[in-house]
Amino acid sequence: MNIVYLTTEAVPYAKTGGLADVCGTLPSRVAALGHRAAIIMPAFRSVYESHAGVEPTDISFAIPMSPRKLVGCRLLRGRLPGANDVPVWFIDQPQYFDRESLYGTATGDYPDNAERFSFFCRAAIQAMQRIGWSIDIVHCNDWQTGLVPTLLDADKKLPSSLRDSATLMTIHNLAYQGNFPKSEFPWTGLDWMHFNQNEIEFYDRVNFLKTGIASADMITTVSPRYSEEIQTAEHGCGLESVLQNAADRISGITNGIDQSIWNPKTDTKLAANYDLRSWQQGKQANKCSLQQQFALEQNDAIPLIGLVGRLAEQKGWDLILPVLRWHLSEHRPTQWIVLGSGDGQYEHELRELEKEYPNQFALHIGFSDVLAHRIEAGSDVFVMPSHYEPCGLNQLYSLRYGTIPIVTPTGGLSDTVVDCRDETLADGTATGFYVREITPHGLDNAIGRALYLRYHNPQHWLQLIETGMAQDWSWRKSAMEYESLYAKTLTLKSATKRSES
Ligand code: ADP
Repeated sequence: MNIVYLTTEAVPYAKTGGLADVCGTLPSRVAALGHRAAIIMPAFRSVYESHAGVEPTDISFAIPMSPRKLVGCRLLRGRLPGANDVPVWFIDQPQYFDRESLYGTATGDYPDNAERFSFFCRAAIQAMQRIGWSIDIVHCNDWQTGLVPTLLDADKKLPSSLRDSATLMTIHNLAYQGNFPKSEFPWTGLDWMHFNQNEIEFYDRVNFLKTGIASADMITTVSPRYSEEIQTAEHGCGLESVLQNAADRISGITNGIDQSIWNPKTDTKLAANYDLRSWQQGKQANKCSLQQQFALEQNDAIPLIGLVGRLAEQKGWDLILPVLRWHLSEHRPTQWIVLGSGDGQYEHELRELEKEYPNQFALHIGFSDVLAHRIEAGSDVFVMPSHYEPCGLNQLYSLRYGTIPIVTPTGGLSDTVVDCRDETLADGTATGFYVREITPHGLDNAIGRALYLRYHNPQHWLQLIETGMAQDWSWRKSAMEYESLYAKTLTLKSATKRSES
């Protein structure tokens, strides 16, 4: 199959979140299964700054964004590092994309995002006609590419080979939808007849993700559980009925982790490397090094609780902060280490706690890839009580690094961590602990259950660690699931075409 990935983020060119990890890895893993894969993305400023070998081509074209505004662009070309067989095509349009960041600044989203990403979708369709292959699957990712399935259906002048390709829309986080005032509709280049409830209109506004969901042949989320949750009022972000209507086209595929980067045996960022056989000494050495680096008491008996992530409401800081305060103020025998950045109020509260309890609480505000690896390796438990989690990567790193995850049973967290109960201990499937009641007390209780097991039942503690470390969360497995879904989508598409003709 020939598959083209449309995205605004892919490592190493542009990243704000997990979307970049998926789109920077999945295409090469699918190519390794014997398919042809390419990526089309905007030439953001970060693409040039990535120094990842981008060259100009002589392909250029223009899109009529309004009767008086013809916007030209040219294509640049690179190759996904580490995967020479995956070309990356960049839409170079400096006025739209050569900016400080991808979607906006600290003061808010760029005001012309509807225009910018309408342009990207329309230019991507032009680019697909010029890359010289017939395309079987157009794999769209998140709202910025949401117009593409509708545009492909609507434009009867497109070559039939492109109109006949099957479309797949992956939702990486439903909270971001590309929801704009109706006045932005003309940028889409679509006729007003498409501004209706079954396509792009959502409560008299333009909704890019909604139109992608309504028109794509198949829809995926980044974990199976999240694909079910988003069909409920609690997690549907207002789109639950649209998603319920599309229920027979929705499924979930859990993201993989890049094992060339996240592998305790070869990870060059660690104080000591280890594997399933040597984890006890290895983790102890990493813990000792973290304790030393942050001037915590160097004592392996004191459990070290790690957290890495965005300081955002989604990640459950309203649960974490009270529990952290209880542990510190009551001088409970635990140490904590937090790495994160984001919401100023959370940053402030964390800094205050660090000032008051420097011997028990280590804090790093900011982004540090090295420290993220060292925390995953050196902590005994990793806390991730997200209110919702499309997939989540940190709990997967924790499993791989022998660090027990304590998670809320939501989305990808519930798909990847098995709660420790009598039955799961007995059948050897337990890998972590669930926060069973979504309150600070519920989180405290889950941490208490974990620490109780560590102190009173070290044999079972060891069993949890080794079960998690032995699991396969590689991209190969996820890529094979995408491969079968692509094949199924193509078959469905051909059947629909036959029945229409
Ligand atoms: P999300 O995509 O919602 O932010 P994930 O758990 O899916 O959450 O992925 C977050 C990724 O970003 C992980 O690889 C995590 O280690 C990394 N990360 C988040 N915050 C930081 C930080 N402050 N420093 C280093 N890495 C971070």
